[in-house]
Amino acid sequence: MRIATRAIHAGQHPEAITGAIMTPVFQTSTYVQHGPGEHTGYEYSRTQNPTREALERNIADLESASHAFAFASGCAAAATVMHLFKAGDHIVCNDDVYGGTHRLFTQVMATHGLEFTFVDLGDVNALEGALRPNTKALWLETPSNPLLKIIDLKALSTKAHAHELVVICDNTFATPILQRPLELGCDIVVHSTTKYMGGHSDVIGGAACTNNDTHAKRLGFLRNSLGNVPGPWDAWLVLRGMKTLPLRMKAHCENASRIAAYLVEHKRIERVMYPGLKTHPGHAIAASQMSAFGGMITFILEGGLPQAERFLKSVKIFALAESLGGVESLIEHPALMTHASIPAHIRAQLGINDGLIRISVGIEDVNDLLEDLDQALSI
Ligand SMILES: *Cc1c(COP(=O)(O)O)cnc(C)c1O
Repeated sequence: MRIATRAIHAGQHPEAITGAIMTPVFQTSTYVQHGPGEHTGYEYSRTQNPTREALERNIADLESASHAFAFASGCAAAATVMHLFKAGDHIVCNDDVYGGTHRLFTQVMATHGLEFTFVDLGDVNALEGALRPNTKALWLETPSNPLLKIIDLKALSTKAHAHELVVICDNTFATPILQRPLELGCDIVVHSTTKYMGGHSDVIGGAACTNNDTHAKRLGFLRNSLGNVPGPWDAWLVLRGMKTLPLRMKAHCENASRIAAYLVEHKRIERVMYPGLKTHPGHAIAASQMSAFGGMITFILEGGLPQAERFLKSVKIFALAESLGGVESLIEHPALMTHASIPAHIRAQLGINDGLIRISVGIEDVNDLLEDLDQALSI
């Protein structure tokens, strides 16, 4: 079956007692046993929950994974994946990862003895220079946040596997509708389901997927031990979002490519970063590993912070807010908002400057979005 059909049906069964077509919210902490240890396979909701499992079967199917684990947040998924490693292990990571991932690595996992090197992996040969004898994993995020750099997942997975590294990809921006990292050679995929998968800005969630039985066994054990599970109601909301993910991604991509084309032509915009533009340095790789270019656009407005602040206050449909991937369009200032947790000198090195603005293009009528940007750019 095709992915748009699977998004709706994969892993879903009518409920056994009533035939309810939608998986119920199994809002329970525990399950009654017939006798001590004689249970239905369900003992306690941190360990097993049918609503969560319906979501996991669905996500696993779309990501071409045999195992998926839902988490309380994207950060919870990333933190749990990091627990596959131990003190003394070294991990290579692309340089402009999500701010919260950077914080988790440098201010939490590093205090437990893990070592990290951040490097621009737009050049696949940069990996070799970052390797150490104790390197155990490669963490990739593509398109990256907020600079929308593109990383060649196939080439880097091949290189990393030659050094026996575990390759992990944060696929939040692309979603399995546009890009399936496991098919391209990665070992583990992580998601913030808060974003496109949930899709309605009403839930925080995360996921990790793999085809490797050893990693899956350990991830299941770690999640049960760390206890960072999503509640059944949150799992249900993400599952509901999944069913329209293919439709929504199509609309996000169409709107974003129209807006990117508009911004490129605008005289007050110094630079537009969107992988769908032929001038984007990662365009060819994006075209080969993604089926479309996503709904995120980053651009530099002339005039630095004062102009950026004025513009951000002048838009009317775009809401000034962190996060992304919802049906509604959002706009934000990475240096002051999503990436404020990255030290200023590192932000400067990366090019996350004061004129940099990131938009999450929603699925409103694109003409309204274009008019909104146009009026705010004329103020
Ligand atoms: C939001 C986000 C995360 C973190 O997810 P939460 O659900 O906010 O914990 C991780 N990676 C990327 C790319 C994100 O956008």
